[in-house]
Amino acid sequence: MSVRFFNSLTRAREPFVPLEEGRARMYACGPTVYNFAHIGNFRTFVFVDVLRRHLKWRGYKLLHVMNLTDVDDKIIRDARAAGLPLREFTEKYVRHFWEDADALGIERPEVAPRATDHIPEMVELIGRLLRCGCAYHSDGSTYFRIASFPRYGALSGDKLAGNVAGASERVEADEYEKDDARDFVLWKRTQPGEPTWDSTLGPGRPGWHIECSAMAMKYLGESFDIHCGGVDLMFPHHENEIAQSEGATGRPFAKYWLHAEHLLVNGRKMSKREGNYYTLRDLLERGYSARAVRYVLAAVPYRKPLNFTLEGVEAAERRLKRLNETVRRLREAQTVAGTTADDVTTITQLRAAFGAALDDDLNTAEALAAVAQLETTVNVALTRGALAESFKTAALAAFDDAQATLGILDPPEEALLDAAIEALIAARLEARKAKDFARADAIRAQLAGQGIVLEDGKDGTRWRRA
Ligand code: AMP
Ligand code: ZN
Repeated sequence: MSVRFFNSLTRAREPFVPLEEGRARMYACGPTVYNFAHIGNFRTFVFVDVLRRHLKWRGYKLLHVMNLTDVDDKIIRDARAAGLPLREFTEKYVRHFWEDADALGIERPEVAPRATDHIPEMVELIGRLLRCGCAYHSDGSTYFRIASFPRYGALSGDKLAGNVAGASERVEADEYEKDDARDFVLWKRTQPGEPTWDSTLGPGRPGWHIECSAMAMKYLGESFDIHCGGVDLMFPHHENEIAQSEGATGRPFAKYWLHAEHLLVNGRKMSKREGNYYTLRDLLERGYSARAVRYVLAAVPYRKPLNFTLEGVEAAERRLKRLNETVRRLREAQTVAGTTADDVTTITQLRAAFGAALDDDLNTAEALAAVAQLETTVNVALTRGALAESFKTAALAAFDDAQATLGILDPPEEALLDAAIEALIAARLEARKAKDFARADAIRAQLAGQGIVLEDGKDGTRWRRA
């Protein structure tokens, strides 16, 4: 069985056949670094992470590029309001993005280029478009000529018609300078007070779309395997990327286009503009763990909208606690030599079902159902006792698969540490019951020294890493 993806370009589920056998080259549109990313953004980035982890787990040699958009209207507006040079302003949010991504267990892409470090590549690409008649200058700016690219709209299809009128928040305002209202800006002439670069196109700055084409082609070649991002980027951003890239090279740009549906709050897209968002930090401050947030974001298959609730994170927290406890008990369980293990077949079947679910367009819900069955099988075996070595090995390998691809389990060291922390919390409770407050305080101080914060509530003591 092979890996299969729903390709937005063909609107069909297709086997993944990379351009070069055994290698997967993919590009994901990255964050616009003018603020903290919200967990809606991270739904898309967790999807991309599960995609990359699964491809690696299936043995592909991966080259994954994700850009950082560090120049655009909102960034310029907010950098100016903060009184900071563009680079200094974006630097802070790039750092915060990686901190949050690390906390969510998102693996770093092989290359994470910044737009402002690739201005010459963008100018070069726009030069090619001018030479082939796909672009034109107008009033100091340069535009892409949609009429030069008859396949325009192939990706977004009939969604396009409704969008052309400017439903996208990023459609350019300066309509009157264009030959055709659909044309989009490649290079914007300098505006007073805006950052500017000298170039053969005249002084100015790049439009948003051109950065992805230039950086994708620089690091992945003119044609590569997978391009992904959130579904809101399909039009106009991805459509424009295709037009610019294929217009310049005459070759297909990306073979598979994968789009993550939105994270919703009460049925509406989570977005900065609506103000209905949480950042990861907001949730950590409320005492939730980053791993539970990752679980929530990964558990619903990426092509289904996901309604976010705090209750959902709480349920994930409980779910992960039980799961990690099972894995910890399994790791620590003694095995008995010479026992037979009928259950090994069940484990093998569940491992196969897990892999097949992810092969099937990353069906994380089915994959997690296999993990839940695995957990039950292991708990039954642990309760029965007399665990066979072959069973323990097979079950641990199955959990390793889940960890490699979904990244939701505690790492072994942390799991042991968690058990030790909980033992200390129990000892503190005992001390308090015995009115030995000096010992209770000493335990709290000891945990604080290890970066563990305790919160006493009416339902008992909760803890989190500071
Ligand atoms: P931005 O930082 O706005 O460029 O967005 C970064 C990524 O987050 C893009 O791939 C967007 O499509 C994606 N995104 C934005 N809002 C949501 C949402 N509510 N749910 C899922 N993905 C989103
Ligand atoms: Zn992009």
